[in-house]
Amino acid sequence: MHYLDHAATTPVPRPVAERMCEVLTEQYGNPSSQYPLGLQAARLVADCRAVVAAALGCKAESLVFTSCGTESDNWAIRAALWHGRRAGKHIISTAVEHSAVREPLRALALEGCEVTFLKPDSRGRITARQVFDALREDTVLVSLMLVNNETGCVFPVEEVARGLRERKSAALFHCDAVQGFLKVPCAPAAWGVDLMSFSAHKLGGPKGIGALYVNPSLKNLRPLMLGGGQEQGLRPGTEATAQIAGFARAVELRQENLAEKLSRMAALKACCLERLLTIPGMERVGDGEAPHILCLSLPGYPSANIVTDLGQQGVCISAGSACHKGKASHVFTAMGLSKRTAAGAFRVSFGPETTEEDVDALYEALKNHQANRFPML
Ligand code: PLP
Repeated sequence: MHYLDHAATTPVPRPVAERMCEVLTEQYGNPSSQYPLGLQAARLVADCRAVVAAALGCKAESLVFTSCGTESDNWAIRAALWHGRRAGKHIISTAVEHSAVREPLRALALEGCEVTFLKPDSRGRITARQVFDALREDTVLVSLMLVNNETGCVFPVEEVARGLRERKSAALFHCDAVQGFLKVPCAPAAWGVDLMSFSAHKLGGPKGIGALYVNPSLKNLRPLMLGGGQEQGLRPGTEATAQIAGFARAVELRQENLAEKLSRMAALKACCLERLLTIPGMERVGDGEAPHILCLSLPGYPSANIVTDLGQQGVCISAGSACHKGKASHVFTAMGLSKRTAAGAFRVSFGPETTEEDVDALYEALKNHQANRFPML
């Protein structure tokens, strides 16, 4: 099998799984319990928080564990609206956010908020100037992702954070960094971002664990759920200790020779692009510079068929995001791609485990697909 869908999820390296197994079977205490097993679990959570925070260059207290990137996004958005409830109801975001941001924003629009969805250019890019031009007195939230999950475009998060500060905007700045963490520079504290979302399963960690960075200047952030006092009273629910341990172990492993891993991924991406563009009709979609995501299109060959056929040939890729299951991607629509290009678009994504053989297999499988299917007009 050739797995080229690391933006959907990643394999869990054995040391991560082993660490989780150890926690599940031996260090299974509840971090709130007061006897040694519980205290050990509380220490484990604190140590893991410190590991993830160090990778982000922020204080451990600024990081709250959640169940996934989707929860972090939903929470950040709802909390920001509550925080700015007396200042207004205007939100700025983009038309290419992941559904974990887009859907809560659409729900808020139905509840009376006004949302400006900035459109990307045809290459998938968003500029800081677009954000600043949309800014108003009553803007209470700006939500901008770090790396787009379909095109791999990197958005100017640091520049937006600086510009919002210079303009003395009262709006909170949230960034969905699920695809960016440990792939591109990501420094919420140094950049002055208010809220930033993360997910472990995009970097070799288990599914079902995420985190939200909360700027220490934000006092009394409203929790999304109500319950026990875990996570500084911000996120109730017994801490998922094994997942948390897996998250931290995955971060440690990724950080080993990270620069080398990233440049290998970028080199494989470049080689893959060059190779696939020799297939007649193949087009690149967007010019994402993230090292792990490459978006292409074979107009006339519907991406759902490409993905299924390649899957049968043992090559795993996806049609844009793994999350929209067959529906036309809002990202490609927002970029103004032609219907044919959008319909034939697919995403190839790389991880530290990806090899040249995987790229060779992808190339051969696409050639087979083209040879065995009649193109649609
Ligand atoms: N945000 C982005 C950009 C993503 O790519 C994803 C997952 O694909 C998410 C949020 C959701 O993360 P999770 O699967 O942890 O809920």
